[in-house]
Amino acid sequence: MDLRMFIGGRWVESESGETFEATNPATGAVLARLPQGTREDARRAIAAANAARDRIAGLTPWERSRLCLRIAAVMERRQEELARVLSQDQGKPLHTEARSEIASAIEGFREAAEHIKWLETAVIPVADPHKRVFSIRQPRGVYAIVTPWNFPFNIPVEYLAPALAAGNAVVWVPAPTTSVCAVKLAECLEEAEVPPGVVNLVTGPGPVVGDEIVAHPGTDAVGFTGSAATGTHIAARAAGKPLLLELGGNGPTIILEDADISRAAECAAFGCFFNAGQVCCATERILVHERVHDALVDGLLAAARQVRLGLPEDEGTTMGPLNNQPVAEKMDRHLADAREKGAEVLFGGQRAPGFPTDLFYQPTVVDRVPEDSLLNTEETFGPVVPVLTFRTHEEALAIANACSLGLVSAVFTTSLRHAHHFAEKLRTGIVCVNDHTDYWELHIPFGGVAGKRSGVGRIGGKHAILEMTDLKTIAMDVR
Ligand code: NAD
Repeated sequence: MDLRMFIGGRWVESESGETFEATNPATGAVLARLPQGTREDARRAIAAANAARDRIAGLTPWERSRLCLRIAAVMERRQEELARVLSQDQGKPLHTEARSEIASAIEGFREAAEHIKWLETAVIPVADPHKRVFSIRQPRGVYAIVTPWNFPFNIPVEYLAPALAAGNAVVWVPAPTTSVCAVKLAECLEEAEVPPGVVNLVTGPGPVVGDEIVAHPGTDAVGFTGSAATGTHIAARAAGKPLLLELGGNGPTIILEDADISRAAECAAFGCFFNAGQVCCATERILVHERVHDALVDGLLAAARQVRLGLPEDEGTTMGPLNNQPVAEKMDRHLADAREKGAEVLFGGQRAPGFPTDLFYQPTVVDRVPEDSLLNTEETFGPVVPVLTFRTHEEALAIANACSLGLVSAVFTTSLRHAHHFAEKLRTGIVCVNDHTDYWELHIPFGGVAGKRSGVGRIGGKHAILEMTDLKTIAMDVR
């Protein structure tokens, strides 16, 4: 199957004629060939977005709301097809994860359609009796959007829905390893009659087409979800433009001595294994009080034994392969480092034999993880449960906060006082109390804390719309 990019409302090849292969990470089968976009292709897309920007900005909020609802309706009609493509292109289990990601993506357009209608701004009291001052929200123009491969529908929708609702045009570069999903989403936009040029999809290597769209003066603002390293690079390349950056996490989950241990174990394991751990808000490390260590580890091992690693479209599968070789190699590297530093692998610990590709990783539980090991200091992004033990609450907070990332954390306790203490002291943008770090709803503000490398700004519901608009102040002299 030959797929194309979507530029100016037309399906086009790269000007270079070059293509790349999309493969199914579970089987190795070639799913499609896609255009290997170039800087010139990216510039064509930027020009198309600029030609269309007034068209989307000129629609009323009610018209943009209806546009978002039309997209949701098309996606709903095609939801089974989209879920299957997601499972084949990304590797996540169809029955337990892919269908629910599509359902959230549909809801993302519905929620943006609501938020934009009720977004009021202020009339501002002033000292001057001759002035009437008020503010309005205006679209920013052309957004450069770059997205990763772990949620290839949800994450693009987190940007596309508020961008369109707010009246922005978009140039979008998806991750190469899930570009088939991106083409399917663009097909839905076309079918819903998004005006030509309002959303443009450019496939190809991030450092080429992604770099071009974030750095080019023809884009007015940037939305990026991906690793902290790429996000930092993009922030420099896009210097001066408004940025919405959703970067990595290293989700510490702290289990106090008074916690409900069976719930804590169940939630922590879910947070580590959901989407095979390839989640920015995954539970990346578990800090447990020494008095409840053994009971917790028993619970974690029981949960790991229940994981059904398998082909993503099989009914019983609860965990599929990793999406790509670099993420599997990172797991290898982090586990080798932990072993070398004295950690104890209690379960799993390697790539699983007997599958068509080597991207299937055993659900893994590692105990006695030293503080200086990569499993603790860096985001692993794989199906691993690293356990560290602490004696005092201060020690737990110090280990949790020592990390350079600060996206989501969790604490399990039955004490209101401890819950508040940790919620206030943990240096992450989101703190979950008595639930896993993956707890998420579309409209809640989501993003990293200042001083860490987890991003800038807040995505989610009206917060994304606020981020993706300019607040204009209008001062009228009425004398
Ligand atoms: P990545 O940074 O390698 O790539 C992300 C995207 O950036 C891809 O589309 C890639 O092609 C593109 N890219 C790469 N180099 C670029 C460059 N120089 N200029 C412009 N674009 C470039 O990240 P990844 O491995 O695809 O995704 C995993 C990372 O994303 C993890 O760190 C994860 O925590 C993070 N993430 C964060 C959130 C969040 O909301 N905070 C959500 C999901 C994933």
